[in-house]
Amino acid sequence: MLGLTPGSQQQPTWEIDDAGWCAGARRSESANCDARPPDARAELLVVHSISLPPGEFGGDSIERLFSNSLDFSVHPGFAELRGLRVSSHFLIRRDGALVQFVSCDARAWHAGVSEFEGRVACNDFSIGIELEGTDRDPFADAQYASLVRITRALYARYPLTAVAAHSEIAPSRKTDPGPGFLWSRFLDECALPLRRARNTAN
Ligand SMILES: [Zn+2]
Repeated sequence: MLGLTPGSQQQPTWEIDDAGWCAGARRSESANCDARPPDARAELLVVHSISLPPGEFGGDSIERLFSNSLDFSVHPGFAELRGLRVSSHFLIRRDGALVQFVSCDARAWHAGVSEFEGRVACNDFSIGIELEGTDRDPFADAQYASLVRITRALYARYPLTAVAAHSEIAPSRKTDPGPGFLWSRFLDECALPLRRARNTAN
């Protein structure tokens, strides 16, 4: 037994196509990306959380942020986002729905100034997955199921070796996905040889 939940065993496998897109995802292409450096490969999975407005779920504000079409005047919590040009490869909504913004072959702009085991600029060699949520609250069962499915699909296509929280690669700036994300549950259900960052406590 691989420790998969009954639910995930019943779900069809997701696959990443030759252009780096997942057929199981709704595609919402973002221009906030560019090519990875020629020698860079996707080796690291970075887990994030995001909600817009902060603490509210649903709506289209996350997609608008990643497509540079968010109206920053509609909520005071958006003010600090003004001028940001960001994206991730994937977003997993509270109901487990998967949205893809950037081909996994390309470099999404999710990590910012960052360092993983001595290597800086983690966007170069990582895939970023945003979970719709906050830095404090639990995530939904459907989100774990989709995260496990997409991680297994990515592992089949890219040389992933490690997983990290955004807070672990940018500790002075970021706190996501926070203590509400259960690493042991995620990794147990993945049943893949993915290591956590060195020097992490949990
Ligand atoms: Zn983040």
